[in-house]
Amino acid sequence: MTTKVKVLLIEDDKSITSFVTTALEGSGYKVTNASKGREGVSLAASFCPDIILLDLGLPDIDGIEVLKQIRSWSNVPVIIISARTKEQEKVIALDLGADDYITKPFGTGELMARIRTSLRHIHTKTPGHIYRALDLEINFEKRMIRLEGKEVHLTQIEYQLLTLLAENSGRVLTYSYIMNAIWGPYMDNNNQILRVNMANIRRKIEKNPAQPQYVFTEIGIGYRMLENEYQI
Ligand code: CA
Repeated sequence: MTTKVKVLLIEDDKSITSFVTTALEGSGYKVTNASKGREGVSLAASFCPDIILLDLGLPDIDGIEVLKQIRSWSNVPVIIISARTKEQEKVIALDLGADDYITKPFGTGELMARIRTSLRHIHTKTPGHIYRALDLEINFEKRMIRLEGKEVHLTQIEYQLLTLLAENSGRVLTYSYIMNAIWGPYMDNNNQILRVNMANIRRKIEKNPAQPQYVFTEIGIGYRMLENEYQI
């Protein structure tokens, strides 16, 4: 059975719409486009997309408003596409439930990778019992981390932090999302405790903590862990 994955592209820029549509249709996706926000919201309901690509700068209502409306009734993966480089806006969108973002200009390869990651996460909330990428392996059942086959010892908080990122590997998690997940909603907004713990984790798992291979900093936004290579 070959049911095409349905993509709703909410974007008013014609050249981007044409480029993305050509690329996605060439890869076997079915694409529908809305050039306005309200049209996007109504197509999100009637077209039943498997994934939505959403521009933030739309002519009628803001992309953030479109996201809020869609999120009030749907968990469909939403990837923000935006020319805007303002980190704060991406953070707002991610905290409102966007799955990821991609910044214009972007290439086909990057777009496809983001779509695959978001679709995979809706089907498997956790990557099975094992995370594996390069020389790092996390066994969630045994609560064991190995780097080049040797066990790595993390504190309780470091372990929670690393497994949260590993369970969402390939996706960016915002600082506030991580803070809330690990320390709870009553922690103040100072990310210092998060940075300290991340520095400790990097010292333990990265060959060169200044040039990480496993946990990447998305400046002003959060962290993204290298995608799990271990597919079941
Ligand atoms: Ca636009």
